[in-house]
Amino acid sequence: MHDTIRPQPGILDIALYEGGKAHLAGVSNALKLSSNENPFGPGDRAKEVFGKTVHTLHRYPGTDHAALRQAIGDVHWLDPERIICGVGSDEIITFLCQAYAGPKDEVVFTEHGFLMYRISALAVGATPVEVAERERMTDVDAILRACTKRTKLVFIANPNNPTGTMISPAEMERLAAGLPPQAILVIDGAYAEYVEGYDGGSGLATGRDNVFMTRTFSKIYGLGGLRIGWGYGPKHIIDVLNRIRGPFNLSTTQLEVAEAAVRDQEWVNKCRSENARMRHWLAEALAEVGVPSDTSMANFVLARFASVEEAEACDGFLQSQGLIVRRVAAYKLPHCLRITVGDEAGCRRIAHAVGQFKGLK
Ligand SMILES: *Cc1c(COP(=O)(O)O)cnc(C)c1O
Repeated sequence: MHDTIRPQPGILDIALYEGGKAHLAGVSNALKLSSNENPFGPGDRAKEVFGKTVHTLHRYPGTDHAALRQAIGDVHWLDPERIICGVGSDEIITFLCQAYAGPKDEVVFTEHGFLMYRISALAVGATPVEVAERERMTDVDAILRACTKRTKLVFIANPNNPTGTMISPAEMERLAAGLPPQAILVIDGAYAEYVEGYDGGSGLATGRDNVFMTRTFSKIYGLGGLRIGWGYGPKHIIDVLNRIRGPFNLSTTQLEVAEAAVRDQEWVNKCRSENARMRHWLAEALAEVGVPSDTSMANFVLARFASVEEAEACDGFLQSQGLIVRRVAAYKLPHCLRITVGDEAGCRRIAHAVGQFKGLK
C-alpha cells in the first residue's frame, strides 16, 4: 500500500478474481473444463458475422444498441425498451452496484454465490452480506432474515454457479415479495438457457418493480471471449443504468455477433440438449466411482469429495492427465471440484481419469 495515495475504502479488501486455469505447464493439448464454456463454441451464423465486421472496424458503433435489443426482445418476447446491453453480464452487475449501492449500504448474496457480487459491492464501498445456504441451495428465509433497512441489492444466480442448483419460480417470487421496499432482487440467469422451458426470471421482472434479470452470451452462446451480456427489468431501473453506461461500451463486432447469435435459437436448442445428455452421463459416471454431486441444472457438475485433501489430490492427478477443472475453495467449497460438461469425448476422458484416481478403473 502507498503511504499517502489511497484508493476508496473497500477497494483494498477486494481479492483478485482468479479465472479458471487455461493452461498446464508442459502440456500442449490440455482439456479445459474450468470456466463453463460451451465446448462447441458459437454457432456458424455468429462466426460468419464476426468475420464480416472486419470491414466496418473504422466506424464507431451505435450507442443505443437498438438492433440487438430488438433481437433479444423478439426471441424472448420482451419489450426492447426494458433491455440494456453490457460488456458481459459482469458489467451489468457493476452498473447495478454503482447506481444503487454505496458506503453503509448492504449488498446481499449467498454463501456459494458468484464472486463478482462481492467484488462489485466492495468496489463501490458497500458492505457485502453473505447468507448461508441450505445444503448448497439458496435459502429464501435466511436471505429475508438477513435483509435490513440498508439492503439495496440481493443477487441470486438461478441456477447458481458453482452449485448448479436452483430454486423454483414460486420461491423466487416469495423472495421478491418479502424484500424491504428499497431493495432490488437481481436474478442472474447466466445459465437460464440450460433449463428447458425456464424464462430466467423475466416473468417476475416484467410484473414487479423490484426485480431485475441479467443474462449473458458467455455460456450457452459460446461467446465468452467476446464479452456481451444484457439485463432486463423495470423501466425505472433501465433509465438509471443507461445514465452510467458508457455510450460506446459495446463494439460493432460485439453487437452484430450477439444479434446473429440470439436469432439462431436452433444452435441454442442443440447445445441445450447435448449438454443435458452429457451432464446426466457425467454425473452418473462420477457417482459410479464414488464421487457424488447435486442434480445440476447448468453446464457443469459440482463433484464432491470426502475431504479437502482428496479434492486437491484429485485435481493434481487430473492436471497430470492434461485435464483442467475448477477448484472452488474461493466459493467455500474446498472439498469440491467444478467440472464443466464438455463434449462426449471430453466427458469420457474426465470420468475415466476420476475413476483412475479413485483406483476403480
Ligand atoms: C459466467 C457467469 C456470468 C457471466 O459473466 P459474463 O460477464 O457475462 O461473462 C454471470 N453470472 C454467473 C453466476 C456466472 O457463472
